[in-house]
Amino acid sequence: MMMVWCCCCCCCFVFCFVCRLLSVVCFGVVVPSSSCCSSSCCCSPTDKVTCGKTMVRYENLAGGGVDVHYSDGSKERADLVVGADGIWSQVRAQMHEEDKKTATYSGFKVFAGICEYTPHDIKEVGYKVFMGKKKYFVATDIGKGRVQWYAFIGVDANEETPEGAEALTWLHDDVFGEWTNEVREIIAATEVSAVENRALYDRPPQITKSWSDGHVALVGDAIHPMMPNLGQGGCMAIEDAFVLADELAKIDDKSRVPEALRAYRWRRQVRTAAVQGLSRFGAEMLLRFFDHPMRVEMEEGKMMPRVVNFGYLGFLMAAWKVLGVLDTTFKLQFNYLFEEP
Ligand SMILES: Cc1cc2nc3c(=O)[nH]c(=O)nc-3n(C[C@H](O)[C@H](O)[C@H](O)COP(=O)(O)OP(=O)(O)OC[C@H]3O[C@@H](n4cnc5c(N)ncnc54)[C@H](O)[C@@H]3O)c2cc1C
Repeated sequence: MMMVWCCCCCCCFVFCFVCRLLSVVCFGVVVPSSSCCSSSCCCSPTDKVTCGKTMVRYENLAGGGVDVHYSDGSKERADLVVGADGIWSQVRAQMHEEDKKTATYSGFKVFAGICEYTPHDIKEVGYKVFMGKKKYFVATDIGKGRVQWYAFIGVDANEETPEGAEALTWLHDDVFGEWTNEVREIIAATEVSAVENRALYDRPPQITKSWSDGHVALVGDAIHPMMPNLGQGGCMAIEDAFVLADELAKIDDKSRVPEALRAYRWRRQVRTAAVQGLSRFGAEMLLRFFDHPMRVEMEEGKMMPRVVNFGYLGFLMAAWKVLGVLDTTFKLQFNYLFEEP
C-alpha cells in the first residue's frame, strides 16, 4: 500500500483515479479548490481529503518515506509527495534551494470574466480570438448561454491598471473602444463581481535542475509554468499525472519510487519544454511583433480607396494572411499537442 500526498488543482483528479486503479490509497490529498472537493472521485469514502492546509516543507526519511510539515505545525507521513503547488511552488523552492521564489514577467496582464451572452454564430464557432497590437481578446462558449472571456493586455510589470467597475469601463471604452461590437458587448454584459485580473508569469524549462528529490516529485506549473497562449498549462499538468502514475505502476516495491520519478521526468522533459517554448514564443510574437494587417478600404464619400496600416509589419501580416502562414503554424502546433504524452 502506498500513501500519496499531493496538492494541486488539475492533477488530483487523474492522480486519484490512477491511484485507485493501482489499489493505492491517496493520503492527505490537499485539494484547495472547492469545485475539486465536490468531485466524487476526490471525496469518496476511500480517500482522505484535507482542505485548507499549507505545506511549508518536506523531509525525506532515511527509511524511504516523506514527512510533510504544514504551517499549522501538524505533519503527515507519506510514501510519495507530489508537489503540484503551482508556479510559486514551495516544494520546488525547497528542492532547488531557491532563496526567493522567482518567475519571469511575460509583459502581459490578463483580465478574465464570465457573462451571459450568446454570440450570433454560436452554432458555428465555440472559441474566438480577436487579435490586435499588444492586446488580444479570447471568448469561449461555456454553455447555458454564458461566455468566458480573457483580455490580455501588454503592460509594464509596475504599470497600474484600473480595478473593479473602473476596469470594465476602461476595457470597454479605451482598450477595446474601437474593436468589433462583439468584444464590447461581452464586456458590457459582465458583472463587476465576475471579473478578476492578474499579471502573467512563466519560467524557462528546467533542463539542469531535478524534477524529483528522493520520494518527492514536481508536476504541473510547479515545474513547467507556461504562458496560456496555447491553453496547455493544465493539459501538461494532467499529462504529467498520467505519466507519473504510469511509471509508478511499473514498480513493485516502494524503495523503487525514486527510480520511477526519474523515469517520469525523462518522459516529460522534452515535450513540456517544447510546449513552454512555443507558448512563450506565441506571447512574444503578440507582444513585440504582431500588428494589424495592411488593408485597402473605401472611405465614405470619397472616390479613391485608402491604405490602412501601411508599413513593414502591416505588409508582412497581410502577406502572412494571404499565404496562410498562421493556419499552417497552428496545424503543425496542434498536431504536436494532440500527440500521446
Ligand atoms: C488566463 C489563463 C488561461 C489559461 N487557460 C488554460 C487553458 O485553456 N487550458 C489549459 O490547459 N491551461 C490553461 N491555463 C493554465 C492552467 O491554469 C495552469 O497551467 C494549471 O492550473 C496548472 O495546474 P497546477 O495544478 O500545476 O497548479 P495550480 O492550478 O496553480 O494549483 C496549485 C494549487 O496548489 C495550492 N498551493 C500552493 N502552494 C501550496 C502550499 N504550500 N500548500 C498547499 N497548497 C498549495 C494553490 O492554492 C493551488 O490551488 C491558463 C492559465 C491562465 C492564467
